[in-house]
Amino acid sequence: MLLREVEYVKPSSIAEALTNLAANDGARALAGGQTLINVMKARAASPDVLVDLSGLEELKGIELGSDGTLSIGPMTTYTELMDSAEARARPILGEVCSKIADVQVRNRGTIGGNLCANDPTNHLPPLMAAIGAELTITGAGGERTVPASDFFLGVYMTAVGQTELLTRITIPAGKHDGFAAVTLGVDGTCIVNAAASMNGSLRIAIGCVDAVPVLIEVESPDTVRAAVRAAALHPPDDVHASSEYRAHLAEVLAERAARQAVGE
Ligand SMILES: Cc1cc2nc3c(=O)[nH]c(=O)nc-3n(C[C@H](O)[C@H](O)[C@H](O)COP(=O)(O)OP(=O)(O)OC[C@H]3O[C@@H](n4cnc5c(N)ncnc54)[C@H](O)[C@@H]3O)c2cc1C
Repeated sequence: MLLREVEYVKPSSIAEALTNLAANDGARALAGGQTLINVMKARAASPDVLVDLSGLEELKGIELGSDGTLSIGPMTTYTELMDSAEARARPILGEVCSKIADVQVRNRGTIGGNLCANDPTNHLPPLMAAIGAELTITGAGGERTVPASDFFLGVYMTAVGQTELLTRITIPAGKHDGFAAVTLGVDGTCIVNAAASMNGSLRIAIGCVDAVPVLIEVESPDTVRAAVRAAALHPPDDVHASSEYRAHLAEVLAERAARQAVGE
């Protein structure tokens, strides 16, 4: 289906982009367009103005700090992250990005767009929650940083307000991570996914079972299944999987991600 007519602006600074967003209630940021343009074609979103972030160098790039902290610009594409020598400091990032969709989507889709879309079936929300990412949000009033665990608020809803932008993703040092998913075919949409990170205790985030990633913390992979059962999940039921099957997958995949995180 063709897009309805929409105004398009391409700001050259974050300040100008924020002004563009504030000038019109119907303005929306455009990153890789791999979600937004599709929902516009389906008439599920109808922005009046698209504020294209692709000219903002401040939102690109990956830096590795001397303490191993990674600072990632939200306009970094999956392919750029997979090819980045710096991002190898946290190998799970490239590993998970390489599983998202196909090469065309990975060449256009961005890390920030994936997080701001907060589609509950996306790969990155549970990953960022498990590895303790911090997300910097910029608006007219300045900057604030929120942990990924507080960033996702509901289906397609995040802590980023309509007149704000996600401007930086900060990832602490660490290597002991895992990720597991069951997808619709190779590289397809996740039916359930789970990410885990070992840092004293095991932090696990399960995706596709609720509007936001479900977080659990355990001491060992042996107690993961019991902890997931205790979380009493009520996953959605649809044509791809029943609620009971998703709840079962949540246990299996959370344990699998946890065992990868501890090197088993
Ligand atoms: C065929 C296909 C298969 C896919 N399969 C998967 C999959 O298996 N797993 C997966 O995780 N994803 C999948 N996706 C989604 C893809 O990863 C998208 O790239 C991603 O969800 C959105 O990133 P984007 O850069 O394209 O953002 P856009 O579509 O441009 O934007 C998405 C939303 O985020 C907002 N936004 C973007 N950047 C910012 C910012 N910096 N600040 C504030 N708001 C911002 C936009 O306003 C919009 O609301 C698939 C997409 C396609 C087309």
